[in-house]
Amino acid sequence: MTIPHGDLLYEGKAKRIYAGAEDKQVLVEFKNDATAFNAQKKAQLDDKGRLNCRISACLFEVLEREGIPTHYCGIAAETWMVVQRVEVIPVEVVLRNIATGSLCRETPIAQGTPLEPALLDLYFKDDSLGDPLLTDARLALLGVVSSEMRERIELLARNVNAVLIPFFREIGLQLVDFKLELGINAAGELLVADEISPDTCRLWDLSCLDAEERILDKDRFRKDLGGVIEAYGEVCKRVQGACPTPRNCS
Ligand code: UDP
Repeated sequence: MTIPHGDLLYEGKAKRIYAGAEDKQVLVEFKNDATAFNAQKKAQLDDKGRLNCRISACLFEVLEREGIPTHYCGIAAETWMVVQRVEVIPVEVVLRNIATGSLCRETPIAQGTPLEPALLDLYFKDDSLGDPLLTDARLALLGVVSSEMRERIELLARNVNAVLIPFFREIGLQLVDFKLELGINAAGELLVADEISPDTCRLWDLSCLDAEERILDKDRFRKDLGGVIEAYGEVCKRVQGACPTPRNCS
């Protein structure tokens, strides 16, 4: 199903962004394309767009209820979301509660080490450079965010983590790590943007001890574990309990 929209403004790996009816809003279409390893691995996964749209909508509503500002306005159809138009900050914020993934490939920290407080890293959002890790010095040299903005970004990201950890725990999921993108709207407010879904979070089923079976996120695709859509469906089913009817903006 497609819905009335304006010009295509941008096409990314997992979403298309279109002009909306109002200048302050854009429409996001969640695609079924799955990519990993900087798009070197690709597949089409039926229903992924719908599931990620629904999961993201619920999580944005959960954040909103806790007073965390996001770009989310509502959903417009199964794979379509209406969001505020923002200027995206070219930085990816990664919060890690448990060590895994690139942290364990790049450092001697053992898989599964709890990280308290959560480790927060910034990466430069540039696919052609492979989203490199930023040090404070490189961040200052690049001048992409001021030190005051860096503090606001870090506070917002840690607040998101503080809301999502207990939210997921309640539905039997461990929030291992996740990536956030942030943007600034026309009023100059800093908002959580992009999506929050099993494409951007690592989520482990707390009721399952098996190191592979418990994975309910994109690692199933990255590691060829199978059952990717079933895992996303399970996350959607549980998340939806907190938000049975996401706001409709159509
Ligand atoms: N992540 C993401 N997009 C990226 C890089 C990372 O959504 O471009 C998410 C990833 O799904 C995981 C977290 O950020 O939840 C940390 O990823 P990591 O740095 O461990 O990268 P990976 O092991 O996937 O290469």
